[in-house]
Amino acid sequence: MRRLDDMTEGKGRSNDRTAQEILGRNKDPLLDEHNPFEAMMARFDHAAELLALDPGMYKILKEPEKQVTVAVPIRMDNGDIEVFTGIRVVHSTVRGPGKGGIRFDLRVTIDEVKALAAWMTWKCAVVNIPFGGAKGGVVCDPTVLSVGELERLTRRYTAALIGTTIGPDSDIPAPDVNTNERIMAWIMDTYSMHQHYPVTSVVTGKPVEMGGSLGRREATGRGCMIATKEALKHLGLPLRGTKAAVQGFGNVGSVAAQLLELEGLTIVAISDVSGAHYNPNDIYIKDAIAWVNEHHYLEGYPGAEAIDPAELLELEVDVLLPAAVENAITRKNAGRIKARVICEGANGPTTASADRILEDNGIFVIPDILANAGGVTVSYFEWVQDRNGYFWTEETVNERLNAIIENSFRAVKSVADQHSVSMRVAAYMLAMERVAAVHTLRGLYA
Ligand code: NAD
Repeated sequence: MRRLDDMTEGKGRSNDRTAQEILGRNKDPLLDEHNPFEAMMARFDHAAELLALDPGMYKILKEPEKQVTVAVPIRMDNGDIEVFTGIRVVHSTVRGPGKGGIRFDLRVTIDEVKALAAWMTWKCAVVNIPFGGAKGGVVCDPTVLSVGELERLTRRYTAALIGTTIGPDSDIPAPDVNTNERIMAWIMDTYSMHQHYPVTSVVTGKPVEMGGSLGRREATGRGCMIATKEALKHLGLPLRGTKAAVQGFGNVGSVAAQLLELEGLTIVAISDVSGAHYNPNDIYIKDAIAWVNEHHYLEGYPGAEAIDPAELLELEVDVLLPAAVENAITRKNAGRIKARVICEGANGPTTASADRILEDNGIFVIPDILANAGGVTVSYFEWVQDRNGYFWTEETVNERLNAIIENSFRAVKSVADQHSVSMRVAAYMLAMERVAAVHTLRGLYA
C-alpha cells in the first residue's frame, strides 16, 4: 500500500511505530465482547495489521471526520418544553457524501454512533458505491411520543444539522432503529423548506410517491439472498432442499426468508421477539408473513412448533441467517453452531471473539458489511434516481443490485483467498484499502 506521506510534504514524523503502538490498544476482544465500538475496532485493527497500513493512514481512518451533538428542544403536547440530545457522526466523506441511518432510541450513545458510522464507511466501500459513512440518533423513547411530538423532534433535529452535516452532497440520512419512511419524508421537507426548493436526494428510504426507489424495502433481504446463493455455490451446495434458519422476522428476515424459499431452500425455523418456531419439513413463509401481518408477531403461529429461541441458532441447518439484533452469536454459543454458512443480515450479530470460534470450526461467514449491504446499495440507487429525476423499474433496480452484490462477494472472496483470511477480515481489508487509496490520491489538504 502506498503511504500517505508519498503524496504529501509531511515527512519527518516517525512512521516506524505500528498502529497498535500508536493507539496503545489492548487487542484482546474478550475484554468487552458486546461493545459495538470495540467490535468494530477489533476487526479494523486486525485488517490494518494484515494490510501493514501506514500508521498515519491508520489514524486518519480511525477518527471520524465530524461528531456533532445538538440540543433538540421541542414543545410537548401538554405545553411543557423538553430538550432531547441529538447526535450525528460523519466518519468519512473521502469517497463521497456520508451515508447512514438515524435511530430514535434511549440506548443511543456517542460510542455506538461512532462505531456504526465507521461501519457504514466500510460497507459502502465493500460494495464500491461512492459514499462514505455516517450515523445519527436522538436519545428518546419514540413509543411514548405522539405523532406530533415525533414530527417536531425530527424537524428540529434536522434543522440543527443543516449547514453542519446534512445535505445531498455531504451527509445523507436513512431510516434505522425506530425511524421509517414517514420520518424521512419530514426530514426531506424540513431540508427543502430551508433551501426554498425540493431536495429529494437529501435522504433515502422515502416513500416511493416522493422520490423513494422501487425495490428499496426488499433490498436488504434480497442482498442476503444473493450473497447466500454465492456462498452455497462456492461451497458446492445445492439450493434445492438446503435447510435454513432465520432469526428475526422483520424487514430483513422475512424478505430474505421468502426470497430464499423462492430459490428452493427449505426454511425450517424462524423467530421474532415473541419466540422461535421450528418445522423440520418446511415453513411456508408466505403463510408466516400473513400471520404476522394479522397478529403483529409470530406468537401462536400454527405452521411450526414453538422452540427455545436460543435453540434456533444451534439447529442442524446449512444456512443460518441472523437478522434481528447485535451480539446474537457470542463466544458462549458459537461453538454449538452447526450451520455451514452464516449470512449476517443484522448489523453486528457476531462478536469479535465468536469470529475465532466460527473460523476454527470452518463455518463460512458472510460478514454484515457485505451480507446486508443491499439496503445501502439501493439507497444509492435512490439518490442517483432523485438527482437525475428519472426513475427505474423494479426489474432494473433488482438487476443492478444483483450485479453489485455478486461482484462484491467475488471481490471479497478473492482477497480472502489471496491472504488466506476469513471473508470478514477480507471485507475489512478490501474496504480499508479502497478508502485509503482515495485518501492517498487526494493527499492531505493543509
Ligand atoms: P425490523 O424491526 O423490521 O425487524 C427486526 C425483527 O427482529 C423483528 O421481527 C423483531 O421481532 C425481531 N427481534 C427483535 N429482537 C429479537 C430477538 N432477541 N430474537 C429474535 N428476534 C428478535 O428490523 P430490520 O430492518 O429487519 O433490521 C434487522 C437487522 O438488520 C438490524 O440489525 C438492522 O440494523 C439490520 N439492517 C437492516 C437494514 C434494512 O434495510 N432494514 C439494512 C442493513 C442492516
